[in-house]
Amino acid sequence: MTMTDDQLISILRDSGYKVTPQRLAICNYVLSSKEHPTAEHIHSEIVKKHPAISLNTIYQTMDMLIDLGLVQEMRFSGSSSRFDSNTSVHVNIICQKCSKIQDFESEGIRELWSRILAEMNVEPVGQRLDVYVLCDECKR
Ligand SMILES: [Zn+2]
Ligand SMILES: [Zn+2]
Repeated sequence: MTMTDDQLISILRDSGYKVTPQRLAICNYVLSSKEHPTAEHIHSEIVKKHPAISLNTIYQTMDMLIDLGLVQEMRFSGSSSRFDSNTSVHVNIICQKCSKIQDFESEGIRELWSRILAEMNVEPVGQRLDVYVLCDECKR
């Protein structure tokens, strides 16, 4: 999800969060990334412009974005969590070898999703649909 700085700032302020340039830089990076980055990866990018930033600040900002419903944490056993800014219903196509994640979205998936909710009579508090593959590069 991409949004302007003004939109982001008002969302953070309305929810009682302090807005700092570091926090904005982290939010902008994560919200515009399609890579499902790890905290370590986010840190390595943000530190280029904000050298004083700590990994802990990255984690705190991720907690804030999760709290605001703008990012979903994807936990994996044995490796770092990934952060997904695509909060709409979609399938994560995950390479088991290099851990690359690509999103698949379609009308069909959204229809199936509505049907599941209707038939099961449930209200979801989150969703995560993963498919494991070997990507084109790793297949070679
Ligand atoms: Zn995703
Ligand atoms: Zn791969």
